Amino acid sequence: MARMTSSARPLLNRRLAEFGTTIFAEMSALALRTGAINLGQGFPDTDGPEEIREAAVRALRDGRGNQYPPGPGVPELRTAIAAHQQRRYGLAYDPDTEVLVTAGATEAIAASLLALLEPGDEVIAFEPYYDSYAASIAMAGGTRVPVTLRPDGDCFRLDLDELRAAVTDRTRLLLINTPHNPTGTVLTRAELAAVAELAVERDLLVVTDEVYEHLVFDGAEHVPLASFPGMRERTVNISSSGKTFSFTGWKVGWITGSPALVTAVRSAKQFLTYVSAGPLQYAVAEALALPESYFTGFREDMRVKRDLLAAGLADAGFRVFKPSGTYFVTTDIRPLGESDGFAFCRALPERAGVVAVPNAVFYDHREAGAPFVRFAFCKRTEVLQKAAKRLAGL
Ligand code: PMP
Ligand code: GLN
Repeated sequence: MARMTSSARPLLNRRLAEFGTTIFAEMSALALRTGAINLGQGFPDTDGPEEIREAAVRALRDGRGNQYPPGPGVPELRTAIAAHQQRRYGLAYDPDTEVLVTAGATEAIAASLLALLEPGDEVIAFEPYYDSYAASIAMAGGTRVPVTLRPDGDCFRLDLDELRAAVTDRTRLLLINTPHNPTGTVLTRAELAAVAELAVERDLLVVTDEVYEHLVFDGAEHVPLASFPGMRERTVNISSSGKTFSFTGWKVGWITGSPALVTAVRSAKQFLTYVSAGPLQYAVAEALALPESYFTGFREDMRVKRDLLAAGLADAGFRVFKPSGTYFVTTDIRPLGESDGFAFCRALPERAGVVAVPNAVFYDHREAGAPFVRFAFCKRTEVLQKAAKRLAGL
């Protein structure tokens, strides 16, 4: 632990001390060091549409966004976000008062929690949870209350009774992620309706992380919680261009919500980054207006990749949970005679030349996540084939 020489007090404050380096950085570094195929960190190995990249270049050259853009985001992007929510989900948001552009979904999550929580407030999140949730809740002084998604057949499911039982008088907020990283679970309409009912009944705020909204397969449907009765005024809806358009390095995200919620989140956001990614915001505005064929093509491409990797993992002896959404497959390593996902992932580059992520890092109940390991399939076909071949030798 980092300590100042003159004092026994650790440099890193108590709120962050438990977090260390993110698993994604650790595993990508491991891939780089060993030359293994990186199916750990979730990023595509090909860039998004060429015309969108060109739109970014044009904006840079034309001097659009090279100086501080407006605090809420450039009007073109806010208008495109509102149009997307209307077109796709029938949700009407005013681009001027109900949309806020952020530095990726990560900042949107952090700003929402920093804005909406008082120290000691409880936040319920599904476990396994995306790693920034725990850190952002901690930075905001909140207390995280995990509700564990449990294996059920070929997927992970939410136990609604467990969710209901987790709500206390101190619960301020539900932090909901669907499609869910890392399990690939997509909450059904019925499950969402029950979550919405609970939020209304207990008067809870809801922050929804919908960054994989366009990555749903096999007829699964992504429905924003904000579209359920009584939810619009209590829901901060978060998404991001990174996953949908395969530009994860651009870090252009956004929230939509009532004017009161957006104003609150902006109060925090303005002192985190103030603004970001000026020219890229113009390009993302164009991306959101791409024809439907882009979105269906992207989804179909990812479905084929999912099937390829899932089949390879099953052949190699893993128990495979079939994701209905996201670009991750969660597996159980116990059929391989293994039980410790951490040890397994640390050894995997050596044993098979592949990097994966141990799901245990996304759990408070580490033992519940111990045998699960996540693989990303947002990679070129030949890379996935090569990885499958290597894993077959396990
Ligand atoms: N939420 C989830 C569930 C994610 O998987 C990720 C990873 N990209 C993020 C948020 C962060 O998104 P961004 O890169 O836009 O900050
Ligand atoms: N969301 C990506 C994942 O789950 C990684 C993002 C990050 O590295 N912070 O792999």
